[in-house]
Amino acid sequence: MEIKVVGIGPGGADFLTPQAKRAIEESQVVVGYTLYVELVADLTEGKKILSTPMKGEVQRCEMALEEALKGQKVAFVCSGDAGVYGMAGIMNQVAKNHPEVKIETISGITAACSGAALLGAPLIHDFAIISLSDLLTPLDLIMKRVKLAGEGDFVICLYNPKSKKRTEYLDMTVDILSKYRPLTTPCGYVKHIGREGEISVVCTMQDLKNNSDIDMFTTVFIGNSTTELINGKLVTPRGYKNV
Ligand code: SAH
Repeated sequence: MEIKVVGIGPGGADFLTPQAKRAIEESQVVVGYTLYVELVADLTEGKKILSTPMKGEVQRCEMALEEALKGQKVAFVCSGDAGVYGMAGIMNQVAKNHPEVKIETISGITAACSGAALLGAPLIHDFAIISLSDLLTPLDLIMKRVKLAGEGDFVICLYNPKSKKRTEYLDMTVDILSKYRPLTTPCGYVKHIGREGEISVVCTMQDLKNNSDIDMFTTVFIGNSTTELINGKLVTPRGYKNV
């Protein structure tokens, strides 16, 4: 009895690791959010597909568990890496009382890495990833982490920067960070990495404010005090020593 929680990377087949591809091919049942199941549609022909809309995370895990307990080999697909704001954690929690079900995490390319590659090399040195979604984390803790990452001069990569309802947290983030780095700090954002409509934009920290282009399909990169633009690419030097 097994469930493989598979990170499929940011987009379609080009971003899938051979290990992730094999896990999907060898499965009998594929579980996941509709969009992600569609991104790997060419691998799932003839398999039982169980997809649900955005909110049903626990239900999706329960569905996966139910199928595994019936003896089915399950691939539970999620975007990017399965263990970075993905389903690997909650799947282990939901299946806690079923040690007979083997749960394996298959890692994938997370948006921080695929997005950084589009922008240049912003994450070369120490960086912090922070999700601005307060669905599962209290807002004051999120903003405390933003402040401390600012104080520590980390390059910052923001997941879930905005949603339809949650539009103001990115501006709050910039306001906090402007105490530690100038508004001219080189930044960038990427949308729909590896998917139709992919774009990457280099800008300043000021440009992130009141920015209606940034939405839930965007990952944002905020440079540190050493990040620079080199021929249009966002580049953080490897360290703090002059090269
Ligand atoms: N497990 C995923 C992250 C899920 S959280 C991963 O490792 O990448 C959802 C957030 O991830 C989005 O709000 C966005 O900030 C980022 N993201 C995921 N896929 C993306 C893509 N294809 N393009 C841009 N950002 C993406």
